[in-house]
Amino acid sequence: MTDPPGSGGSGTARSCIYLDHGATSWPKPPEVVDAVVTAMTTCGANPGRGAYTMALAAARLVFESRRACADLLGVPDARDVAFVSGCTEACNLMLKGLLAPGDRVVVSSMEHNAISRPLHMLALAGVRVDIVRADATGTMDASDVERAVRAHATRAVICQHASNVTGAIQPIADMADIAHENGALLLVDGAQAAGHLDVDLVALDVDAYAVSGHKGLLGPQGVGLLYLRPGLDATELLQGGTGGGSSEEESQPQGRPERYEAGTPNTPGIAGLGAAARLLLEHGAEWRADEQRLFRRLKDGLRPIPGLTVFGPASDEPCVPTLTLVSDRIDADRIAFLLDRRYGIAVRSGLHCAPWAHRTIGTLDTGAVRFGVGHGTTSDDVATAVTALSELLA
Ligand code: PMP
Repeated sequence: MTDPPGSGGSGTARSCIYLDHGATSWPKPPEVVDAVVTAMTTCGANPGRGAYTMALAAARLVFESRRACADLLGVPDARDVAFVSGCTEACNLMLKGLLAPGDRVVVSSMEHNAISRPLHMLALAGVRVDIVRADATGTMDASDVERAVRAHATRAVICQHASNVTGAIQPIADMADIAHENGALLLVDGAQAAGHLDVDLVALDVDAYAVSGHKGLLGPQGVGLLYLRPGLDATELLQGGTGGGSSEEESQPQGRPERYEAGTPNTPGIAGLGAAARLLLEHGAEWRADEQRLFRRLKDGLRPIPGLTVFGPASDEPCVPTLTLVSDRIDADRIAFLLDRRYGIAVRSGLHCAPWAHRTIGTLDTGAVRFGVGHGTTSDDVATAVTALSELLA
């Protein structure tokens, strides 16, 4: 019997029950692995740098991957999508490239360090940062954002699309309306949403959207992308070779996407991400339904366990398939350790690079254990996780 597409069947032996999809997806679909290998074996030239046959093939590969990613995110002109090293670089580029001293921003209290740390640097340089607090499930109330935006002139509203701590989905389309009615931009960290949600950036009306390639998008690590709305130009983070435009000598070419892609690109990573985007275009709806069903089963299985607090929206509320929990009996690091050593279950404890989010839900001092379901998770994985926690906390 052949494995269904993207099932992780060939060559990806599962060595554990992997429930750390909030960190990165694993195993990668075999089509993604094959695309990375093919880019390194038969198509290893430098794309956009040379007119010989293999360099042109490499450029075509990058072009096709960009088109697939743009299609997946509902972006009409693929040049509005720039490949970067990951969501961290994309967040730095959208914040540092669009904000200047004297600007004021309104930001959610659920942000990851990929937003809060660059914002801290910008605050030191004279950007005013006002934080709006989410509720105990990690969900933002758009009317709180509206009040904050109306209070003072605002250059940008900054918000994640979904939380890497509680799985909460933020009201991005409402925030876009609020930002635009008040002359502000909406800048979004989509790391936890892309791939887990059906994302249409034109319908959401965002101005910039930062994405990880290696999480819900199922691509390799070391690649991500930034969408910038047509006409919204950010100052680039890096200057350097773009393969063309060298007659302009010192000044960075201003065209898209090359302005944001100085240096030799991560062609194998981009190839893998393109293969993943094509898989998601074909099977994404079905895979998202499967992961939501398994995630609800996990949440419903964990919530009744005595002494356990499970953070995140109710199981009939929309969310991405990530939750965190704490126990009143065993601390978070010990739970993660015991799950790994006794049951072979891979989950992550601590603050998940999101101290703001943990402060919001009240777990800054204790940390929490995070479970993330994703493509490749099975009902047996979920059942084993529920049984393991019930036994550990009995
Ligand atoms: N934002 C959020 C919400 C995340 O969960 C992550 C990854 N943990 C990032 C940004 C950064 O992504 P990357 O590690 O791919 O740069």
